[in-house]
Amino acid sequence: MKNVAIATCAAVALASAGVVAQQVTGTVESHLAAAKKAAGSDFTALYDRICMEYEKPLAPPAPAGQGRGGGGGGRQAGPPPAAQWHAEPAKVFDNLYFVGMTEYSAWALTTSQGIIVIDTIYDYSVEDEVVNGLKKLGLNPADIKYALVSHAHTDHIGGAKYLQDHFGTRVVMSKEDWDVSDRTIPERIRPKRDIEAKDGDTLTLGDTTITMYLTPGHTPGTISSIYQVKDRGATHTVATWGGTAFNFAPKPENFLPYIRSAERYRGVVQKSGADVVLSNHTAYDSTNAKIAALRTRKPGERHPYVIGNANILRYLTTAEECAKAGYLATTKLAGTSSR
Ligand SMILES: [Zn+2]
Repeated sequence: MKNVAIATCAAVALASAGVVAQQVTGTVESHLAAAKKAAGSDFTALYDRICMEYEKPLAPPAPAGQGRGGGGGGRQAGPPPAAQWHAEPAKVFDNLYFVGMTEYSAWALTTSQGIIVIDTIYDYSVEDEVVNGLKKLGLNPADIKYALVSHAHTDHIGGAKYLQDHFGTRVVMSKEDWDVSDRTIPERIRPKRDIEAKDGDTLTLGDTTITMYLTPGHTPGTISSIYQVKDRGATHTVATWGGTAFNFAPKPENFLPYIRSAERYRGVVQKSGADVVLSNHTAYDSTNAKIAALRTRKPGERHPYVIGNANILRYLTTAEECAKAGYLATTKLAGTSSR
């Protein structure tokens, strides 16, 4: 364990679910309006994905087996053909590279002592995108020392075992999501339980440190993170929101941790001065358009990912307001069906 450069700091006390519930006032409509305003014209994909369904009254849940999937990016048997998902890798910052798919992102953060991969996409795409992507970018996949997995859904954890097996990559995830992995990830692609990150822990490799925050909601131990990147020598701070959609059972109590996490992480982001937001789904941070813009960026032109702190707060406000709309909409539904 001597290579484990993980440091712990005291967990921040979190408000109880009951307190959060009392704080959700207003109506579904008022929260939808607040979310729409926060989303502006740049985070419409986020609004559409997590808010839009509450614009109409919710239908009672479908019978078991026909509801929405709990796996996040689950798929049919057999991998889909590469033509459906392959994306080319790209250098995004001096020390950060996109090595993901058309819909799902993996990020490679280069340091003075190797590479940290943030999210590992699927088992069937990790070799094509992460391994071959790094090679195309002139980097060595054998240098992947850590894989930080935001949460245990197959679209983010799927490639972790491959990296463990091929490069001895240490896999970092929250204890809560290692437990999810043990229960839900097929053994064939499940990484061996490795480093358990706690709230506020830092992961350091060489000259680079990632601070990890547990933001339960999307999964019980979703990790959101803060770290620095450089653009043409200037330092910027990245914030990631580790799990976005409400893919849990549509019950009021399931929205409360998400609301609490979004609120708390917004404070973290504000304090960090983060000016870049990155997602693990390309739609939410407009990765495909931004990478295209980077390819034609002229000297002196603004970096498309550097959007400023206030805009990242809007991103998190959108997520929080949609969760509040979801809480109230599911509360209303529970009220009507019990009468
Ligand atoms: Zn997920």
